[in-house]
Amino acid sequence: MSDRVENRLFQNRYVVDVGRPHITVKPHVNPSNALVAMTRVCPAGCYSRNEQGQVEIVADGCMECGTCRVVCAQTGEIEWSYPRGGFGVLFKFG
Ligand code: SF4
Repeated sequence: MSDRVENRLFQNRYVVDVGRPHITVKPHVNPSNALVAMTRVCPAGCYSRNEQGQVEIVADGCMECGTCRVVCAQTGEIEWSYPRGGFGVLFKFG
C-alpha cells in the first residue's frame, strides 16, 4: 500500500455519536478568514462552504487534532469539545 496520508487515514475507524456532533460552527453570515481556511487545512476534510459562502462542518471523521480549535480560538465561531467516551476516532497504530 502507498504511504500517502489518505491511505493511512483510511485505516482509522470512526464511531459517530448520532445527533451529538462534538464540533459545531455557530450560525453566521460571513465567515472569517480563519474559518474559511479550515476548508483547506482540516486534515479530515470536515469543513466545507455552502452555496451562500457560509462554512459548515460534518464532524464525522474528525481526528481530534485540535487545529480548528486553535485557528478559530480568536474568532469564537466554533464550539469544540472532545467526543463522549466510546465515540469518535479509533486510531489504528502500526
Ligand atoms: S479537530 Fe482537526 S480533524 Fe477535527 S475538525 Fe478540527 S481540524 Fe478537522
